[in-house]
Amino acid sequence: MATVQCCKCKQEQEAISGPTYGGAVGVEIKRRVCNDCWQSWLNGFGVKVINEMQLNMRNPEHVAMLIQQMRMFLTMPPEEG
Ligand SMILES: [Zn+2]
Repeated sequence: MATVQCCKCKQEQEAISGPTYGGAVGVEIKRRVCNDCWQSWLNGFGVKVINEMQLNMRNPEHVAMLIQQMRMFLTMPPEEG
């Protein structure tokens, strides 16, 4: 079982096995976030954010807003550069 040092729960936990988001951020999520914390974003708070902010996932600006909310939820620091 692959594990990851999670930046959200601060523990070494099971890594994410399924897909996350595309691009560099997806790679970063898999490297820094455990499966449990990812699921609580994906099936919990993330859904709430999309509904409450009425985000359209085909709109790149909305996707960027979702990623920003996700970073705060998962306590991932902003991208470098
Ligand atoms: Zn975690």
